[in-house]
Amino acid sequence: MDLATKDDVYSKYHLKRVINASGRMTILGVSTPRAEVTDTVAHGLNEYFEIKDLVDKTGQYIAKLLGAENAAVVSCASAGIVQAVAALIVKDDKELLYALHASDKYVPREIILPKGHNVNFGAPVDTMVSLGGGIVVEAGYANECKPEHIEALMSADTAAILYIKSHHCVQKSILSVADAAAVAKKHGIPLIVDAAAEEDLQAYYNMGADIVIYSGAKAIEGPTSGLVVGRHQAIEWVKQQANGIGRPMKVGKEGILGLTKAIELYMTDPKKESGQEMVIKMTPFMSKLNALNGISARVVWDGAGRDIARVEISFDQNVIGKSAVEMVKLMKQGDTAVYFREYKANEGRVDADVRSVSAPQLEVIYLKIKAIIGQ
Ligand SMILES: *Cc1c(COP(=O)(O)O)cnc(C)c1O
Repeated sequence: MDLATKDDVYSKYHLKRVINASGRMTILGVSTPRAEVTDTVAHGLNEYFEIKDLVDKTGQYIAKLLGAENAAVVSCASAGIVQAVAALIVKDDKELLYALHASDKYVPREIILPKGHNVNFGAPVDTMVSLGGGIVVEAGYANECKPEHIEALMSADTAAILYIKSHHCVQKSILSVADAAAVAKKHGIPLIVDAAAEEDLQAYYNMGADIVIYSGAKAIEGPTSGLVVGRHQAIEWVKQQANGIGRPMKVGKEGILGLTKAIELYMTDPKKESGQEMVIKMTPFMSKLNALNGISARVVWDGAGRDIARVEISFDQNVIGKSAVEMVKLMKQGDTAVYFREYKANEGRVDADVRSVSAPQLEVIYLKIKAIIGQ
C-alpha cells in the first residue's frame, strides 16, 4: 500500500495515529505482516477453492513444517481454545456436534486448569472454555499448582487438561508444560496448551501436548488468524467443529493462505530481531531519557523468558509532579498516541517494547515525554 492510500484511512475516518511500544497488543492491531504474506492474502481473496480441501492441505503442509501429525488454521487463538475444548468433549458425537449447549447428553465436560492460569488475556479463559461446552475445574491455588493438584481432580468427568503458557499467568510454583504432559499421559487425559503469544511452534507439541494453540498475528506475524497443531485425531475433531459451534468463528480463505505463508516464512526465513539487536536500537533512547530529571531508563528482559528486551522507564513523581499512571494517560493524548506496557504503572514504571517502533518513532516518544514533564 502506498503512503497516500495509508494516509487516506487516517484522514478519511479521522483515526488517531499510534506508536505501539506495548508489544503484540490486540487492542492496537497486533503486528504488521511482511509483503509476501499480504500478497498471499490478496491472491487468496481473488481465488476459489474447495474449502475442505484448502483446510486439509494447508494443515498438512503446516504439520510437515512443524514436524507434527496434524494442524489447522482457525480464526484466532481464542477460537482455537473454544474449538479445542468442544472437540475433546464432542469427539465424533453428531448430536453434540449440532447441539453442544442445548443437549443434556452426558459426556465428560470438565476441563482442569491450574488456578494461576485462569487469567484474562483480553477475555477470560474460563469464558472460552464455557463457550466450548466445558466446565472449568481449577487445580491448586492462586500461587501454586503441582501435578498432584491436577491428579486430585481427575475423574470420569474429566475431558481435558488446559495449560496456558503465557506471561499473563502466575509463573512461580506452577508445574511446567512437560509436567502437565506427563500427568496427562499417565492418566490418558488429553492436554491442550494455549501458547498464543509464544515463539516456539514445536516445543509444546514435542513435550506431548495433544493440541497446541497459537495466535496468528502475534509471534508469527500473520493475518488475524490462529493455529491449532497437534495429534491427528484431536485436530480432525477441531476441524469438525466448523459444522457446529465453530461456524461463527470461521476463518476465510485469505486468512488460511496468509497464515500458512507466514508460518512457512517464520520457520524457514525468520526476520527476527534478537534481544541484543533491540538493546542496540533502544540504547540512544535510554541515554536521552536518563538525562531528564526524575526519569530513569534501563533494559529489562521478558518475564516469560522470550528473547525480548524492553526499556523500563521509571517516573519519579516527586520530581516530575506526575505519577506513572498519569503519564500513561497523557502519552495517549494528542495527535499521536503512544502506548506502553502498563502492567507496572501502579509501581511507578512502564515498559517500552521496541519491536514495532522505529528509531524516528523512539525520538517522537522521547520528545513527547520531555514536553509533558516540561523540561
Ligand atoms: C493473545 C492471547 C490469546 C488470544 O489470542 P487471539 O488470537 O487474539 O484470540 C489467548 N491466550 C493468550 C495467553 C494470549 O496471549
